[in-house]
Amino acid sequence: MISDGWGYNHLRAVSYYEYGKDARQIYNRFPFQFAMSTWEVERPADNCTPLAGGYDPALAWSNFNYVKYPCATDSASAATAMSTGVKTYNGYIGVDVGGNRVPNGLELAEQKGKATGVVTSVEWSHATPAGFVAHNISRNNYAAIAQEMVNLSGADVVMGAGHPWYDASGNLKATPNTFKYVGGQVTWDALVAGTAGGDADGDGVADPWTLIQTRAEFQALMSGPTPERVLGTAQVSETLQQGRSGNEFANPYVVPRTTTVPTLTEMTLTALNVLDNDPDGLYLMVEGGAVDWASHGNQSGRMIEEAIEFERAVEAVVDWVQANSNWGETLLVVTGDHETGYLWGPGSNPTWQPIVNNGAGNLPGMQWNSSEHTNSLMVLSAKGDAARMFARYADQYDPVRGRYLDNTELAELVFWAMDPE
Ligand SMILES: [Zn+2]
Repeated sequence: MISDGWGYNHLRAVSYYEYGKDARQIYNRFPFQFAMSTWEVERPADNCTPLAGGYDPALAWSNFNYVKYPCATDSASAATAMSTGVKTYNGYIGVDVGGNRVPNGLELAEQKGKATGVVTSVEWSHATPAGFVAHNISRNNYAAIAQEMVNLSGADVVMGAGHPWYDASGNLKATPNTFKYVGGQVTWDALVAGTAGGDADGDGVADPWTLIQTRAEFQALMSGPTPERVLGTAQVSETLQQGRSGNEFANPYVVPRTTTVPTLTEMTLTALNVLDNDPDGLYLMVEGGAVDWASHGNQSGRMIEEAIEFERAVEAVVDWVQANSNWGETLLVVTGDHETGYLWGPGSNPTWQPIVNNGAGNLPGMQWNSSEHTNSLMVLSAKGDAARMFARYADQYDPVRGRYLDNTELAELVFWAMDPE
């Protein structure tokens, strides 16, 4: 489970807002807690020297601006690192720096006979879900990526926003926005007709997708029998909630929420209910995609809303594992792909000041120091027996965040968990 664009201080701010105390979210109680580096491979032409690449803990905590790095990773290279174990350039989806396709965890899970899927609160062909399913030299080739996800991948669940006919607040439009996020009009028409989809299970027969769109359709599949493959496109253009109209700088929940789209939790439970038909197990990536979007906009209230949505989804997954599986056979990892906004407390820069706790229900004292991604270490929490292997990978040390691994090593661990021999 990946919260796009959050970081240590986002979590702290949200915990203060929700609970009036630090570190009260469910993942803080997971037994495995590490940090993770997220750097990308710079293109020579990007000319990011003298801060050239990697992550240097000594520099990170001696120079406030070190992590405000123009070549910090984007979601495409970060997703590729976490899904394939290969570092690549920003913008690249499931390909190495030479543009060559590299295998991902979802494909390994398919080889192992597992059911597989991706769920997000932004467009389902956006960089993070794309990086877990597709292979393309540009994240911006949305239509091609969506076509690959629909027609060529073995995924059994794809869910998110990006509906061609609804605006950012979930209102039906007279003319469509764009069909690119759903693979172009031909692919969308085939999805609507129930004819889109290749041979997902390798038996030589096509396995068409069942398209669901309304919130009621999502909710109806949260329990009981399901189709084999479900593609959910919520009736909203970009994000489930973050992009809705109204004052984007209002405190959390002041602007009424769009009620015609599923919550991230509802989507996640729908996905699990589809994927759990397979006795060989499942592989699922769930993204809280709009924490990043709110953080780019320095929208404190909406960032908190999005992080809480993600937290509810994590809670639902923990409950689901405990009801339907166990922590011996299931690994749950909660992390992010990169920090966005360089969030610290008031009065930061050039020194680091803490987020200020103003009590539950009150916006904490926060200062955004960037509108871009940073090279800050990411938080990682894990639960399940296989997570013991994180101790082996987390062999680097940061004076503030402690032991850390690299985002490519998360992929290595997941590969090992699925194929320990
Ligand atoms: Zn971003």
